[in-house]
Amino acid sequence: VASPGPLDPRQGIVLEAPNLSGWRDVPLAPRLSEALGTRVFLGNDANCAALGEFTYGAGREVRYLVYVTISTGIGGGVIDGGRLLEGATGAAGEVGHMTIDLAGPRCNCGNVGCWEALASGTGITAQARAALARGEPSSLAGHEHVSADLVTAAAHAGDPLARAIIDRAARATGFGLVNLAHLYDPELIVLGGGVLQAGDLILGPARQIFDTYAMPNYRRTCRITTAALGDDVGLYGAGALVHLRLADDSLSA
Ligand SMILES: [Zn+2]
Repeated sequence: VASPGPLDPRQGIVLEAPNLSGWRDVPLAPRLSEALGTRVFLGNDANCAALGEFTYGAGREVRYLVYVTISTGIGGGVIDGGRLLEGATGAAGEVGHMTIDLAGPRCNCGNVGCWEALASGTGITAQARAALARGEPSSLAGHEHVSADLVTAAAHAGDPLARAIIDRAARATGFGLVNLAHLYDPELIVLGGGVLQAGDLILGPARQIFDTYAMPNYRRTCRITTAALGDDVGLYGAGALVHLRLADDSLSA
């Protein structure tokens, strides 16, 4: 099962997922296991997506990969030498909560200026609503339901406020990618998620930032590409996770 986190993959418990209302310390894997009469493994959805792209998608030819999804939030997973980087508690890879801007907006996680607060769908929407509440002029003014899609469409149409917000998201994404290259030295960074439907408004400036600020070695060796598996990436990854856990079992047996 690929689930939003934070979670404890070893015990199979979803701890307190902000995007699953009312879920707190839910023993999801044990309960499913009991109901289905079979073994059940639990993984963070973004980590599973990284495994999916690595095993079946855009990363099949590489051993070192970082996957980033830019959608409602920003999540990620790191494949290091063909292994999923899990961390001490199984919670490694929260790439969206690296601080990009010390003076940036408050993030849902409590931190400030996170990549997620600047460039996720939630972050783009929140910045637009705050600017409109301050009375900044925009074609978005008066819209009842301002969404990231709406901001993106207004940016494409040349609205200055929407352009500024999307440009900030694009720059934040560029610096996020620079940080990931410096931290993990991947051969490939795979980008997925709905926000990328903004296309070149996000990817163009992000690539430009990467080509300017990543250290030369990483610029030469790290490629950036878009995801290959689409909406089912978590399912593919959950399948890959089963193979990984069974292989771990046979090693420790
Ligand atoms: Zn955050």
